[in-house]
Amino acid sequence: MIAAQGGVCLICQDGPAEHVDHDHRTGMVRGVLCFSCNAALGQLKDRPDVMRRAAAYVEGNLWNPTHVAQGVCRRPS
Ligand SMILES: [Zn+2]
Repeated sequence: MIAAQGGVCLICQDGPAEHVDHDHRTGMVRGVLCFSCNAALGQLKDRPDVMRRAAAYVEGNLWNPTHVAQGVCRRPS
């Protein structure tokens, strides 16, 4: 499986593939990840909806306040 992945993590495609990731509900192996991405899945509760919101947040699309004056922000409605 690691060779099929080119030896790198399936998520970041940068770190070494060294942690076997399981679907905790089914026990099925999903792939081999690096330490950081494997830990991140757990910290995001293995929930795709949370991961999508995290990506939108990092991209500034989830909560992007507008500065209307010094120290005053307005949230998007
Ligand atoms: Zn990774």
